[in-house]
Amino acid sequence: MKDLEKLEQRVSAARADVESRGETFYPGPSRVHLASFPPRERWDDWVELDSRAWPERKEQRYMLVPTTCFNCESACGLLAYVDRDSMQVRKFEGNPEHPGSRGRNCAKGPATHNQITDPDRILYPLKRVGARGAGKWERCSWDDALDDLAERIRGCLQEDRHNEVMYHVGRPGEDGFTERVIASWGVDGHNSHTNVCSASARAGYAFWTGIDRPSPDYANADVILLISAHLETGHYFNPHAQRITEARQRGAKVIVFDTRMSNTATHADYWLASYPGSEAAVLLAIANHLIQTGAYNREFVERWFNWQEYMVKERPEEDATFEGFEGALQELYSEFTFEYAAAESGLDADVIAEVARTVATAGTRLSTHNWRSAGAGNEGGWQVARCLFFLNALMGAVATPGGLYPNAWNKFVAKPIHSPSHPETWNELNWPTDYPLAMYELSFLLPHIMRERKSRLEVYFSRVYNPEWTNPDGFAWIEMLTDPDSIGLYAALTPTWNETAYFADYVLPMGHSSERHDIHSYETHDAQWIGFRQPVLRAARERLGETITDTRESNPGEVWEENEFWIELTWRIDPDGELGIRGFAESKKNPGTKLTVDEYYGHIFDNSVPGLPEAAAADGRSPLEYMRQYGAFEIETEIGALYEERIGAEQLDDPAEDLFGRVYTRAPAPAPVNIVPTGAPDPDADGRRAVGVRVDGEVLRGFPNPSGRLEFYSSTLAQWGWADAALPMYIKSHIHPDRMESDEVPLISTFRLPVQIHTRSANSKWLDEIAHTNPLWLHTDHAKQIGVATGDLVRVETQTGHFVVKAWVTEGIRPGVVACSHHMGRWKLHEGGQRQLTATADLNHDGSAWGLRRLRGAQPFASSDPDTERIWWTDVGVHQNLAFGVHPDPVSGMHCWHQAVRITPAGEGDKYGDIAVDTDRSREIYHEWLGRARGAHEHSPDGTRRPYWLIRPLKPGRAAYELPTPVPVVVDAD
Ligand code: SF4
Repeated sequence: MKDLEKLEQRVSAARADVESRGETFYPGPSRVHLASFPPRERWDDWVELDSRAWPERKEQRYMLVPTTCFNCESACGLLAYVDRDSMQVRKFEGNPEHPGSRGRNCAKGPATHNQITDPDRILYPLKRVGARGAGKWERCSWDDALDDLAERIRGCLQEDRHNEVMYHVGRPGEDGFTERVIASWGVDGHNSHTNVCSASARAGYAFWTGIDRPSPDYANADVILLISAHLETGHYFNPHAQRITEARQRGAKVIVFDTRMSNTATHADYWLASYPGSEAAVLLAIANHLIQTGAYNREFVERWFNWQEYMVKERPEEDATFEGFEGALQELYSEFTFEYAAAESGLDADVIAEVARTVATAGTRLSTHNWRSAGAGNEGGWQVARCLFFLNALMGAVATPGGLYPNAWNKFVAKPIHSPSHPETWNELNWPTDYPLAMYELSFLLPHIMRERKSRLEVYFSRVYNPEWTNPDGFAWIEMLTDPDSIGLYAALTPTWNETAYFADYVLPMGHSSERHDIHSYETHDAQWIGFRQPVLRAARERLGETITDTRESNPGEVWEENEFWIELTWRIDPDGELGIRGFAESKKNPGTKLTVDEYYGHIFDNSVPGLPEAAAADGRSPLEYMRQYGAFEIETEIGALYEERIGAEQLDDPAEDLFGRVYTRAPAPAPVNIVPTGAPDPDADGRRAVGVRVDGEVLRGFPNPSGRLEFYSSTLAQWGWADAALPMYIKSHIHPDRMESDEVPLISTFRLPVQIHTRSANSKWLDEIAHTNPLWLHTDHAKQIGVATGDLVRVETQTGHFVVKAWVTEGIRPGVVACSHHMGRWKLHEGGQRQLTATADLNHDGSAWGLRRLRGAQPFASSDPDTERIWWTDVGVHQNLAFGVHPDPVSGMHCWHQAVRITPAGEGDKYGDIAVDTDRSREIYHEWLGRARGAHEHSPDGTRRPYWLIRPLKPGRAAYELPTPVPVVVDAD
């Protein structure tokens, strides 16, 4: 059946359903049927009464132009209300045509308007004058900046210094455009923020399925188990929160692990305020209950677990029967009693038992999620995600209605116009051999690795990233960035000032979410959709007949968008094409000319998004016009259990099968329609590719991992030095009571505030007024014990130094645990820059001793926005991450954020916001954690740096995987 017919059938069925309930039907993908959505056929000329003119009934005419929010990773749809008289954006509301967010947004979505009108935003390219960090800038031209960057990068490529070019991204907010640009240059220079965010959770999922993210079908779940404050701040927060809410309205039970009484915990049926790091112990107690009572889905486990491989490799003396495996399961997890879990977590054993019985009632309608939270906080946090998925796997709640999907099946990444091959180089700065199983780049170790190897980056880009502030150990970043021998040129691509940008050589203004192009697709529910971010004023003017080829023409000042920037830079690096790079930024329609964003996206929408051309034609538009008009397209719903797909005989050319049923073929792989990154199983010894797995006599698609099944037993972990962690197990965190001094307590430093987001929300006045501080959560008993009350200053002593913060005494946290949000504590060293949520501070430095002392907090100021004179808050919180040493998890590489700290009332000389750190001590911490790693030189089973099948951005060719001669490390390089 044609895609369009399928779409029409889905819409008709939905209409009949809604109208049978007497409700008004909204035909777009939101299907939430709110009468208040402007019907899409009236988006070109929408009339509202001007609220500010009241009581006069003054009509305001708008053009409604869709774009996508960029204030977190959810990529919700926004509708910009463009005033037809002034052609300025007046407000942003939700886009009902967006299948993920369905017309809804959190507070940060509409606050995009603050960001685009912020009087402190950066409007022109700036070049440093004087020393790095001295705060002196002059306006420069884009041409000058581009030529300088291009000349340096060209020099690196021509002189085989490929590893001296690095692009470091925080929030990508796009589906691989920049990654492909970097690939086209032939450098292994992609660096991300993932290892300070989600690498551990990814590892937990990837070692099961070969796909590194979960996609819960919350709306259809009967039991929802969240290890996070997911309802208020989780990954894909608004799209997920609304579906969790729907499930709750149907009577689904919600179980929340959160040491703090978060807003999410207050909505839970079961709030488990477990001791941080004990989550896996509790999950295994639930698993043990399912196993010992036989409440698991026996048929599913027998079909899909790689139990035979486990039995043969780890229990060779036993019969490899399923019954034998069931006996092994009972034995393996029997120690995880409710009482054991209670002792580890501080929870009541009866409550854990009740929760376990609730999970057992879910059947295949169990939705679970862990992303940051416990995964990101703890050494071994990846096992929290692995143990959580274990529950889904035991219940058979994998890719079922109400269950958990691997994200690659609920996400759509379209094939682009050009696909450069990946580099032949390997960058040890991002992928050191010490961490062969790291899920992403060891980005937060960069200053340490650079220093010890005496390395240099000729060109370092940061984009939507503020590593000095976001990462732990920020003073080590200042040391690196201010060393001209380490960094040749640093260009900060950012719409707004941040702590790291102050140390840049160029600050290059990039657009906010309504000023740039991107496409994206995320696993918000069991469906596939694609969303389009676009510069709304450009789109509005084009609707009126103008032709715009450079987005700077419609953006404020000289604010650009990154796609056009990267295309232009690529042309300047390789002006005549002799480096073989320029072709990737060339037009296909008009060879020899520059690729335009219209051609780039037009090509994707014409050729690579199933159903879109037909839907666009039915609407009388081209696919690009359709996406510019509506902003999103729903490709498919109800994807189902793809692992059960039968592999047809035509795909089985000269097939071969291994001992455990992995099936290989010589048939070429079909061209992928959806290019979401997943694991890529190795070929067999004769070069056949893995195509499926034999299950009950049939060859089925299975999972993209070595065995093709759910890897209860990870042969990868076992072969690469982690045989002791190859099964879902409990690893005692670095903040386990056994591993801390008696006067230390754990600090939870990972939680988000619902209305703030790292760096870029600080230029949203509405959000700043709501949330502008981050006190230390302290239980009443703890506060009494150390003699502090709410508002008192406390000194938090970490392993590398200390910070001084205000106390917030509350019953809403487990006694003996403290917590502080990381979304606060912005600072600057000079006047100007970002002012409404940034303290002005004095930075002092004597050898390895660093200190930051606040001079003043926020204060009112005169600007083009009269509201800045109404700023009533001075407190902007404290930057705790500066005082954290680096804690790379030895498996996933994730920074383990939780800290062992000592809390005392502030001393006489202490002032609010003080931060002191000794970077010699932070180097010791780096070495302490490095000592826990199991490096490839000692543990690689095959002479490679890393398992080739594991997901890796810009995956280099196989030759680059060969282990090199160990690089000599200079300890204490001073
Ligand atoms: S959840 Fe909020 S911040 Fe995130 S994309 Fe949606 S509207 Fe924007």
